[in-house]
Amino acid sequence: MKLTCLGSGSAGNCYLLHNETECLVIEAGIPFKEVKKALDFNISKIVGVVVSHEHGDHAKYLHEYIKVGIPVMAPSMGHVTGELSAISKPFAVRTFPLVHDAPCSGFLIEHQEIGRLLFATDTEYIRYKFKSLNHIMIECNYSKDLLRESYYDGLQDRIKLTHMELDTCKDFIRVNENHDLRTVCLMHLSDRTSNETVFQKEVQELVECPVYMANKGLEYEL
Ligand SMILES: [Zn+2]
Repeated sequence: MKLTCLGSGSAGNCYLLHNETECLVIEAGIPFKEVKKALDFNISKIVGVVVSHEHGDHAKYLHEYIKVGIPVMAPSMGHVTGELSAISKPFAVRTFPLVHDAPCSGFLIEHQEIGRLLFATDTEYIRYKFKSLNHIMIECNYSKDLLRESYYDGLQDRIKLTHMELDTCKDFIRVNENHDLRTVCLMHLSDRTSNETVFQKEVQELVECPVYMANKGLEYEL
């Protein structure tokens, strides 16, 4: 099973969890035609799309999935029951609430090929500790120092309450790190208030497994 990043950040988020015969789309923030291209137009293998929240960079193109009848799980937007069972095979997806300025959900995704994958973005922090995660995909949006230098106070406050700071991200990884952790992916880095090289290095110091940065075009084996 591979993870492909088609976009990460305020310009549009979309990730594909896929093998030869199955694909789960995570976030609908880029046009469906780009997903089709990435899958060589084999869209019949898409088992569903999960969407964290209603903001355009995550949900702008959800209607395109609904139009072609792809099952949707977007609990924070009112799409859950009914569609949920259609997604749950072969991927079992559970949701948990995040801390953002709109209702927002994280996902715990299980599949026999990959074990347990956590996906969480657009959140000040994560309230929960998870058992034996194999893969972590987590927002690492900004560092407090770069935020202080880049924005006026009012905007700083908004970002602090809605997106994850580097130290918060590191704390989560420290607490959830375990022997079976195989990959970490840092997502949704801010253009102005992050430093990819520093963030990767600091998180890599906490774990034995590879730490990937979610740039458009990233692809790795899970
Ligand atoms: Zn958002």
